Amino acid sequence: MRPIKHLEKGLTLVAGGIHEAIQSVNKYKPNPSFTPKWSDKPLLKSWQKSKPTLGWPRTTDSLCPNCVIEAREEILSGKRDVSVLVDENVGEIKAQIIERDGQIWMVKDCPTHGHFEDMMAIDAKFLTHIEKMFPGRDIDAHNDEKLHNHGSSTVKYGRGAVLTVDLTNRCNMMCDPCFMDANQVGFVHELSMEDIKEILDNAITIKPRRQMSVQFSGGEPSISPHFLESIRYARKVGYNSVQAATNGIEFAKSKEFCRQAAEAGLRYVYLQFDGIGNDANSHRQVGNLFDVKMRAINNLHEAGVEIVLVTTLVNGINNDQVGSIIRFALDNPKKIAFLSFQPVSFTGRDEEITEQRRLQQRYTLSHLAHDVKNQVGITEPTRDWFPLSLMGAFADFADLVHGPQAEWGQVSCGCHPNCGVGTAVMVDKETREMRPVPEFLNIPGLVKDMQKITDAARGKWMSNLMMGLALLKHYNPYKSPSQFTLYELFKKFDKSFGLTGKDYGKVGGERTTVDIEMRRADRWNFLFIAGMWFQDLFNYDFRRTEMAGEI
Ligand code: SF4
Repeated sequence: MRPIKHLEKGLTLVAGGIHEAIQSVNKYKPNPSFTPKWSDKPLLKSWQKSKPTLGWPRTTDSLCPNCVIEAREEILSGKRDVSVLVDENVGEIKAQIIERDGQIWMVKDCPTHGHFEDMMAIDAKFLTHIEKMFPGRDIDAHNDEKLHNHGSSTVKYGRGAVLTVDLTNRCNMMCDPCFMDANQVGFVHELSMEDIKEILDNAITIKPRRQMSVQFSGGEPSISPHFLESIRYARKVGYNSVQAATNGIEFAKSKEFCRQAAEAGLRYVYLQFDGIGNDANSHRQVGNLFDVKMRAINNLHEAGVEIVLVTTLVNGINNDQVGSIIRFALDNPKKIAFLSFQPVSFTGRDEEITEQRRLQQRYTLSHLAHDVKNQVGITEPTRDWFPLSLMGAFADFADLVHGPQAEWGQVSCGCHPNCGVGTAVMVDKETREMRPVPEFLNIPGLVKDMQKITDAARGKWMSNLMMGLALLKHYNPYKSPSQFTLYELFKKFDKSFGLTGKDYGKVGGERTTVDIEMRRADRWNFLFIAGMWFQDLFNYDFRRTEMAGEI
């Protein structure tokens, strides 16, 4: 072991003591919360944050799948007006979330269509841990009365983390099934540039005005005639994280197109990625599709666009690919910084799935945590996975440090703990050595201390100092990668949240290729592995919708 690790261990012990001493004084007389420019309501203290009912058994509001399908048909055939979706509680029934044989299930009964049930988790302990780590909801959504008017499905808390804008329902592929029914509904639905501008402008008016990821989707967004202009406009109005959810074909075809997209301000692509090798992709009916994906990855990386691999997981069909996809990312740490696994949701034509097949193919976030452990041999489901909304605690600290004059709030995913989970692995880009971050950084302890620092609401430098001590206190240098140092830890934290104002390469609309190279020069890849579970009619929960992370 490198001697510096012993020195760091000593420092962490000293820092822990100093942190405790300062905290014992600091907790008295917290400063009041300020109201930043990006919100009409003040920042919330941790104890002011509301939570939905969690744990089990619990009762929630859900939908009868059959009532909803019938209502939709009546609306499409003109028998009922679409306004019933806002004014009447169409298809709504109660549901129970219960534990049964160590698993979590949603069970519900419709007076007309009978009994429905579906699995929420294969492992009750996993979901207990995830729900326990939920830090509470964001500031109530406000200034949004005209935009968030969807009856019982209205978003009530926060402003979401991802704004999905479907540019077109056309696609250059013909997958079966396709969650959007792209190319197969018999009509083209495509937004004009005016429509796109209106959506982006409207979204900015909602408060709290946090940064969010603007994700252009489809169909295939890159074949919209307004694709590049949409990216440029989203950047111009102030969104930092502009993304495209794509199958990658257009990017594989042309380096020049990748360059143009990067120049317009495209920061990430969400690349559809079913698995490693052409066989794992063959069901999409495009020859050598894996080779196409590889070309897209290389072209985009060269142009300065970051790549997120997105895999929809269906139990028993492709969940055996989890391990090889993670290994692929660990082997390519310079190019892949984010994996997004999405448990299947039975929507579109898949709503007609038989009950038996649905229960066989149902894949939950708990399946993912166990598959990562079983297939890669890293991470513990109840130690290393957290709700995506835990990033809200980090966002709250950054919001405090950025002060009342900041134009935008920090991006924050306030979604329900049943919606999304994540873990992270620190990878050495040079040696490929890697360690799960929660193995060497005590995340629950850090979050607890961070909440106390945020609640005290001291000035920027005092808060940063205490945060530095808290990081030290919860860092175990003996468990981190051999070349990783405390300095790297501070740098990563500062780079992610912009706390000190140091320039690590700009991310705003003015960024240049020099900025991109600066950010990439970092030796360490913080590989984030996320599970994002979209709802369907069988597991629908209005408590999730009202705090939706994706809009
Ligand atoms: S690439 Fe995506 S949008 Fe296009 S057909 Fe396939 S699933 Fe549908």
